[in-house]
Amino acid sequence: MEITYIKKNNQTLLFQIILNDDENRIGIGQGGSEIELLENTFSFDLPVFVKEIHPDLIALTLLTIVLPWVKTKISFPVKISTNFAELIESNCGLKVIGVNKSLSSRSFGEKDAVSFSGGVDSVAVTQIIPDDSVKLMFLRKDHENIDNVQPNYSIVAQKQIIDEFENAYYVKSDIEHIVGPMPQYPTWTTLSTPCFLLADYFNLKSINYGSIVGSSDIKDGKKFKRRDYPDKMWASLFRGVGIYLSKPVAGITEIGTSTIVHKSGFDEIATSCQFGAMNEPCMRCFKCFRKYLMNIAVNNYDISEDIIDVFLRQKNIQEHILGKPPLYFQHIFMYALKYADLKHKHVVLSLFREKILLANDNIEWCERQYDDALDRFVPDSDLRDVVRQKMRVFLKNMDRDDVLIFENWDLNTDYNNDSIQKRLNEIDVILGYIFDTISSNERLQLDQKNEYIAELKNSASFQLGDLFFRSVQKPYKLLTYPYNFIKILLKK
Ligand SMILES: [Zn+2]
Repeated sequence: MEITYIKKNNQTLLFQIILNDDENRIGIGQGGSEIELLENTFSFDLPVFVKEIHPDLIALTLLTIVLPWVKTKISFPVKISTNFAELIESNCGLKVIGVNKSLSSRSFGEKDAVSFSGGVDSVAVTQIIPDDSVKLMFLRKDHENIDNVQPNYSIVAQKQIIDEFENAYYVKSDIEHIVGPMPQYPTWTTLSTPCFLLADYFNLKSINYGSIVGSSDIKDGKKFKRRDYPDKMWASLFRGVGIYLSKPVAGITEIGTSTIVHKSGFDEIATSCQFGAMNEPCMRCFKCFRKYLMNIAVNNYDISEDIIDVFLRQKNIQEHILGKPPLYFQHIFMYALKYADLKHKHVVLSLFREKILLANDNIEWCERQYDDALDRFVPDSDLRDVVRQKMRVFLKNMDRDDVLIFENWDLNTDYNNDSIQKRLNEIDVILGYIFDTISSNERLQLDQKNEYIAELKNSASFQLGDLFFRSVQKPYKLLTYPYNFIKILLKK
């Protein structure tokens, strides 16, 4: 592959991709799915007047974009340093054509940047790294040769967010539009192209991401696996251009980032949902449902029956609730529903609560920091010291018991138990019935449903299941189990 400049001045960079004979337009994108290269040109509009960008930074910018489609050789519009060419070869298996032997590598700068989205997690990052950090946002713009298949959502809102912060800028690009079937970043690091292009201008030494526990040591909230060398390939390439790849909130959950944001007073600004505008979440998707319940637990907001009612009418949310545990990001639901004040004991939420806390309800670690993560995810020791100090203002570290629970976290194994599975089935039957009734297009009249549910709950089989479950959870109850078992049967 060859990448050339079509246009280059102090504020605009327009590139062109030329494929080699052995390359084609289908590549593997994020999450292993196939993506197609729809167009060969793409551009960036910089927010400031930039005189010079180190060639290795240009190369890294381009690599984060074209990597899914390159086969064996790559040449950039500028000659890069020998050192960085070797790093590309050892990390990506690609031979670089066009090396400048007299060019030295870029050395580390002095300032930290946030790869900034305006969402809760990245706002939290701005509060725990040095105050003079630069916030750099990627902003989608139209591509002149491609019709928009997806609206450029929330650009106005994103600009408003930028206005709320010191040292915050956005870089506009049409990159996402050249990727099919849907506009997207070819690699997760494409998001940070603004940081690479402005690294010399702002004298950067680190790029900080809002990746939380659910995308680091406990992927999706299901099972602990220590990442000893996180993001090995990209971290090595970043270092090659004098930048640390850094994830200061990797040891905390969404509960932690929400707490930081709430305590710093940025609540109103930092809401995000891919289906709504930046500060207007759609309030219809599973993520909004999770964030809503979490906010009630973390910030003691009042729960609204009407909002819950709308959520529970959404097919996608019903399907998620009926899913087989462990659910995606279940740990957050566990914490939220354990601590949210559900007021009138909403029947669906109560059943959902029981379902997700059935196998393990030790969830207090979610509000604390797993300090061990900082040593691995924040490679710059100076920055790490600042993060540790600032984090202490907002959150506690996990104690020894928390760490033990955290490092042995495995919801799959927890649910692997016959009595738990039996009880789970009973809960799903009731939930399924309620959802069927909701979808049969009448308004959910909880009073009526409650009668049916009370009936179901009074049935002997349901109660026996419940009794058995409670008995195995609490050993002393096992002693009274035979007595209660007979009592229920006789009553029937
Ligand atoms: Zn949403």
